[in-house]
Amino acid sequence: MKVEVSERGFFGEFGGAYVPEMLYPNVKELQQRYRAVIDEVGFQRELRELLHDYAGRPTPLFKARKLSARYNTEILLKREDLLHTGSHKINNTLGQILLAKRLGRTRIIAETGAGQHGVATATVCALMGLHCVVYMGEVDMARQALNVARMRLLGAEVRGVSSGSKTLKDATNEAMRDWIANPHDTHYIIGSVVGPHPFPDMVARFQSVISAEIAQQCEERGGRRPTHVIACVGGGSNAMGAFYHFVDDERVKLIGVEAAGCGLASGRSAATTALGKSGILHGSRTLFMQTSDGQVEEAHSISAGLDYPGIGPQHAYLHVSGRVSYVSVTDQESLMGARILARDEGIIPALESAHAIAYLSQAELTPEDRVVVIVSGRGDKDMETYIKSFGEGISDEI
Ligand SMILES: *Cc1c(COP(=O)(O)O)cnc(C)c1O
Repeated sequence: MKVEVSERGFFGEFGGAYVPEMLYPNVKELQQRYRAVIDEVGFQRELRELLHDYAGRPTPLFKARKLSARYNTEILLKREDLLHTGSHKINNTLGQILLAKRLGRTRIIAETGAGQHGVATATVCALMGLHCVVYMGEVDMARQALNVARMRLLGAEVRGVSSGSKTLKDATNEAMRDWIANPHDTHYIIGSVVGPHPFPDMVARFQSVISAEIAQQCEERGGRRPTHVIACVGGGSNAMGAFYHFVDDERVKLIGVEAAGCGLASGRSAATTALGKSGILHGSRTLFMQTSDGQVEEAHSISAGLDYPGIGPQHAYLHVSGRVSYVSVTDQESLMGARILARDEGIIPALESAHAIAYLSQAELTPEDRVVVIVSGRGDKDMETYIKSFGEGISDEI
């Protein structure tokens, strides 16, 4: 099967562009122009150069020997944590800033939760000399003070959002409002495969460099394709990028790992495919966690990047069609995953990525398998959580 977007922006029943009338001209222009702009040879060349020289691509595909021995299989880690700014988010922000320039935009807005997407956006705006405004819930600003400081040092204006729960979904609403008010000079860089068409398809294309590299790197190692590709899912951009070139090859098992938070039945979770229902969230039809009267439910995860109540429409489609298996891992299990990766391989992962690692302990794998796990980001931003969680036990056996 394929995850091709339809003319009107759908993947099966999911996707589309459900936006207020005021936003329609902006979205329409993007829909009409994004493919021509990003497929153009000069654009591709400039993006390739920036990904290589500025962001640090290609990222290594590292054979994790001790992790492989632990789970009695072959485990290869795709090291997105080694990229500039510390995660895969830079793949998308570089692509979108080049698009914005070609559309003649001079001002960039973005929403951010944990601050990783905000930092990646502030970074590319500094690089390209464009004015940058990042919307962030006040609760998140307090939790992620370091990333707020990074964005400001990079020259971005961080605007606190005090409505609703003062977190990511409120910041997203505020960014949408800004875009409506400033349709002519402003481009909105959305941080995952979510939002109205064309964002999910466009962001997936920018992140698809991950699976293009994996395919090539496997080719260089004797040509054997992965049997499994495993990635964590917040909105789903690193996972979509990692699955992209493998979706049509049914031999490759694709596994998305969601955050179960305190447990699926706890009421404090972010496991959308297990708990969500179909509806309209942030401009597209997708699955998200809802109250009985259809309101967006608060999500919980120990990792701020997975703490989102929905998933992108491609993932909703891949879930319903059965092509991708979605599983979940709790806060506690993810902490264990982080510790295992640190001790076995000398790599401290972001808490988001630790979910993908933690899933290895439940997966049914054989010595003949070749398992690629995406390390979507590095763990520096999560040190406070690691210290709090492990406390005195930081040196415990794993
Ligand atoms: C933002 C983030 C995620 C979650 O976003 P996706 O769009 O699901 O990839 C995962 N890992 C890291 C390190 C992040 O910063």
